[in-house]
Amino acid sequence: MTDNSALPFLPFSRPSIDEATIAAVGDVLRSGWLTSGPKVQALEAALSAYFGGRPVRTFNSGTCTMEIALRIAGIGPGDEVITTPISWVATANVIIEVGATPVFADIDPVTRNIDLDKLEAAITPATRAIIPVHLSGLPVDMDRLYAIAKKYNLRVVEDAAQAIGSSWKGRLIGSFGDLVSFSFQANKNITTAEGGCLVLNNAEEARLAEKYRLQGVTRSGMDGIDVDLLGGKYNMTDIAAAIGLGQFAQLDAITAHRRALAKRYFAGFGPDFEARTGAQLPLAEFDNTNWHLFQIILPEHVKRAEFMAEMMQHNIGIGFHYAPIHLFTLYRERGFGPGMFPVAERVGRQTVSLPMFYALTEADVDRTVAAIKSVLSA
Ligand SMILES: *Cc1c(COP(=O)(O)O)cnc(C)c1O
Repeated sequence: MTDNSALPFLPFSRPSIDEATIAAVGDVLRSGWLTSGPKVQALEAALSAYFGGRPVRTFNSGTCTMEIALRIAGIGPGDEVITTPISWVATANVIIEVGATPVFADIDPVTRNIDLDKLEAAITPATRAIIPVHLSGLPVDMDRLYAIAKKYNLRVVEDAAQAIGSSWKGRLIGSFGDLVSFSFQANKNITTAEGGCLVLNNAEEARLAEKYRLQGVTRSGMDGIDVDLLGGKYNMTDIAAAIGLGQFAQLDAITAHRRALAKRYFAGFGPDFEARTGAQLPLAEFDNTNWHLFQIILPEHVKRAEFMAEMMQHNIGIGFHYAPIHLFTLYRERGFGPGMFPVAERVGRQTVSLPMFYALTEADVDRTVAAIKSVLSA
């Protein structure tokens, strides 16, 4: 066996902040204006231009971004919101947070995104909104999704936390659709350390977003102030926005590099990998997904914790995204349980996320593939 302990540790994700961005943060710290100010405005303007001129507002997390999107859509007590059980728990928590009822529909075993047939079957007269998740950056079928939303008169809050730079049939995720929420948490393709942004439909929704993120305040003139709705404290700082501007400048290069790394993974595993090992590779889609994650499904007989421990022996950190939300205690207490969403339960048990980040090299990918082949054949 080769000794890999001398090779550098490969995490599944790692942010890359360039020196120009670090200098820009220093400038903010010296400027005397730390919280929301010119950098936030510049980031919102850059994102708005990127998304085809739609209004964009920033927040201090992708989680509160989605919560505010639901509030803007008027979702609250008595309303059902349908989402996927395979996502970060924030996706479903925000539904509870606004007083609505989460409803899950099982996932598609190939895309691992919400199964739109099952989504349609879960619609009731109380359904008001859908939260689709573009998991690992692979878009949900947007034609079909928005056809369903139109047919049943539902709002859509896209959880595009992982999907900046992804597209659907050549159109950027965020540049069309209803409310589209992105996250800039540290592991995402571009980061502000913590943060998020919401793409909105019109100026009125943008004004509502501004109120919800800052205590419901509206200012006018030199000293006019009123509060006409309950808002929170969700604004992004200029420190974070300076990081975001530096990251945004690299977005196209980051997306291109991730696509090249994904191709390298497929080339390394080779066409017979699935047949030989029983593992399942992700959908080989290179035009639209931003490859936020590169996830394989381990064969049933492999215990994920043991696989992860053996990969650590190769100095490679493996992530898993995600444990099925409906099996968490908070959701079992609301009537969900094992057996309800079998595809999600299988994927949730066996999915692993391989190293995938901007500073990762093709040699790192080759090393990871070799380690996986060796662990799975042992
Ligand atoms: C990261 C993430 C979130 C939450 O974003 P935060 O910025 O961490 O609050 C929500 N949904 C998905 C799918 C995510 O990956």
